[in-house]
Formats: sequence, C-alpha cells, structure tokens
Amino acid sequence: MCCPSCHCRVAFERGLLRGTCCKRCNSTILISSAYIRGLMMLSLLVAWGLLWAARVPALLYPTLGEVFGFLAAASLGFPLAFVILTVMVRTMPYVVPPKLVVRDPTTVTTLDLN
Ligand SMILES: [Zn+2]
Repeated sequence: MCCPSCHCRVAFERGLLRGTCCKRCNSTILISSAYIRGLMMLSLLVAWGLLWAARVPALLYPTLGEVFGFLAAASLGFPLAFVILTVMVRTMPYVVPPKLVVRDPTTVTTLDLN
C-alpha cells in the first residue's frame, strides 16, 4: 500500500480503518469505503454459500415451508457473515492490499451549535 499524497509505502495497521496520519506527509489516510463494502459483500456471499453447501435450507423447508425456510436460511447468513467479516478484515489486507484514500477535512459536517 502507498500513501495517495506522497506515494510512500504504508504498512497495514488497524488504525487505517478509521483513519491515521501518514508519518511522512502528515495527511489523514484511510482504507477506501469501496474496499470495506467489497469485504462485506464477499463475507455475506461466503456465508450464504457455506449455509447452502451445508444444506441448511433443506433442513428448514419441511418445517417452515419454502418461502419462510428460504428467508430463515438467508437470515442465518448475517451472523455468520459477521464472524467471517471479522476474520477477513484482519487477513485480507495482506492478501489483497486495499486502496488508501485521503480524508478531506472539509467534508466533515458539524451541527454548528455555537
Ligand atoms: Zn503520505
């Protein structure tokens, strides 16, 4: 990974998820939201794939019917996807380096309650 401002190499650290300062140019850099969304979608697809591979929907169809069995199986994918996402956030940046972006401080809005 490299800093988008000064193009120096940046090692992955957890602070990049929320935003951290580049040690060279002092600009606030963070992992792009498109990368995080991609990880979320990938973890959800992997979770549903694992559930379908384990034939969980087939277990739910006789008792709940096809529609509610499908919905129950699909909703079981969300907690499983959360667990998978927890692992992927820590491992995937070493496999597929994320794109870093510079946080624009002017886009932060405040309530201006002065
Ligand atoms: Zn930099």
